[in-house]
Amino acid sequence: MPFIITDPCIDTKDTACVDVCPVDCIHPRKDEAEFATATMLYIHPEECIDCGACVPACPVAAIYESVDSTPAHQKSLIEANAIYRAGDADAVAKAEELVKAHVAAHPEIMAIAADERQAAHAKF
Ligand code: SF4
Ligand code: SF4
Repeated sequence: MPFIITDPCIDTKDTACVDVCPVDCIHPRKDEAEFATATMLYIHPEECIDCGACVPACPVAAIYESVDSTPAHQKSLIEANAIYRAGDADAVAKAEELVKAHVAAHPEIMAIAADERQAAHAKF
């Protein structure tokens, strides 16, 4: 079961998780072309080894440890993590479309500051 990045990462994307991931499965990295325009970062579900190192590194607690533990209202972001592939323009565009749709569908969550958003997930 891969780890999942959710909406507190949106517009945060500080890459603290990238720095600690032992298998380099979180994208886009700062040296990848998509980084400047990416709304958030994504974990490659087949490359993630479930080590958990990224969770305490994230300053906004955006990362859940499995699909099952990720709140239902973050479901489209589970899919975005699953389909994002650095260097694949179509996959990048599809993932970003899912993120934009999530933002549009959940103004109540996105109105909360990023560092308080994960704590609020349980209320929705
Ligand atoms: S550490 Fe958290 S906020 Fe920063 S890029 Fe990773 S998931 Fe996003
Ligand atoms: S759980 Fe480990 S392997 Fe998976 S994204 Fe986080 S740091 Fe990388």
